[in-house]
Amino acid sequence: MLKLKVPALALSCLMYTACSKTDSVTPSTTTTTTTTGSTSITSVVQAKYKTTVAFSTSGSSITLKSDGTPDHPTPYYATTNPLWEAQRTGYTLNPGTVGVQNYSMTIPTNPEAAATKEATALGPIGMALNGVAIYNDQEGGNKALDTGVIGSFDRAGAHPGPGNTYHYHVTGDFTTKDDANIVGFLRDGFPIYGRKDKDGTYPANLDAYGGHTGSTTEFASGIYHYHCSNVNYLSTGVYVLKSGSYYGTKGTFTF
Ligand SMILES: [Zn+2]
Ligand SMILES: [Zn+2]
Repeated sequence: MLKLKVPALALSCLMYTACSKTDSVTPSTTTTTTTTGSTSITSVVQAKYKTTVAFSTSGSSITLKSDGTPDHPTPYYATTNPLWEAQRTGYTLNPGTVGVQNYSMTIPTNPEAAATKEATALGPIGMALNGVAIYNDQEGGNKALDTGVIGSFDRAGAHPGPGNTYHYHVTGDFTTKDDANIVGFLRDGFPIYGRKDKDGTYPANLDAYGGHTGSTTEFASGIYHYHCSNVNYLSTGVYVLKSGSYYGTKGTFTF
């Protein structure tokens, strides 16, 4: 079906680069709580999400509503859309386009660690700051992303799924590449960041859920936060946004 053509030489270079990154990194100072210090999740969510994402609070929860369409170019828009661009050379196109969705994600204002960790599943596991859904490292049938699927990604690390649900699986040009950008929030209410911490280092003390507690640009007093994987996925030059289980208890994401 879909084939990704990347020269073997380039792949081995990328692999070595990725392998060397986690060496000689000093673990950042961490705390043992998941509290957010003086900064509230609510204020950060409100400040960081694009205005196209509707924000509301009710009791101890925050609801974010979006139509799921990206605010950046993609070959998955109709060619008549001003945001259409050609697919990258060597990549293919999935069936489907960017469809207007009716997303509603509800997260807690004070997320906490879950006693029992739940695995992320197929479908939206979070929402990026522009309202686009974040998916894990799996496709339909709970199949891990393979090079064929990766070959269908646009430069945002995204493609549409059934129902024209455009979604991010991996790092890309508009969310995070090799940086400490905040990407969005997962359904358990914890934020997800790029591969680096704000001091420019690659975190060396991530737990089994891909996160740790520490200071971020948005939460200077420290918060539990996820990082994108630091593994060059299948040597394709992209990095999975999130795999495995949630650290907290997931809220609803309807569409
Ligand atoms: Zn997908
Ligand atoms: Zn961190």
